Amino acid sequence: MNFEDYIINVPDFPIPGIQFKDITPLIGDGKAFHKAIGELAAFGKSLGATKVVGPDARGFIIGAPVAVLLEAGFIPVRKTGKLPREVMSYDYELEYGKNTLCMHKDAIKKGEKVVIVDDLLATGGTMEATIKLVEQAGGVVVGLAFVIELVDLGGRDRFPNYPIKALLNY
Ligand code: AMP
Repeated sequence: MNFEDYIINVPDFPIPGIQFKDITPLIGDGKAFHKAIGELAAFGKSLGATKVVGPDARGFIIGAPVAVLLEAGFIPVRKTGKLPREVMSYDYELEYGKNTLCMHKDAIKKGEKVVIVDDLLATGGTMEATIKLVEQAGGVVVGLAFVIELVDLGGRDRFPNYPIKALLNY
């Protein structure tokens, strides 16, 4: 199976100049979705992760089933105003626009091994914010896992100290 067959490139979405990688055909196909989640979970397992953290919103779609396969907890990192209890927050720049991400303060125990999962690594801003939140909580980020990495944007270069897995490179 070639995961690339399940990704549709959408030019100029959501703004001119962005080549948007649509993963909905992949997650809409039972076999492709199962295989992709299995490969990301194997990476998390090899690192001994006991928690999966996924950023809003496609990180939930990919991260939650990875957590189930690992029998690990899933922790949502969300946009401002969505989490009901006390949060830590971090501001960052996106490939398009700006964002703030939040995580419940008590979501991660000190020393807990965390794999962060998202659909796509672009500039790495989302990952940097998520790493900061996990580490501020006392968690240990053991790896970063993605369906897609946009290699030319150099996101990987921001994280030389973390193992990174991507199922597809563009
Ligand atoms: P970044 O913070 O720049 O690494 O951007 C990563 C986040 O933005 C991911 O959560 C993606 O869902 C989304 N994203 C950024 N660029 C794209 C793209 N070209 N196609 C699809 N999603 C993207």
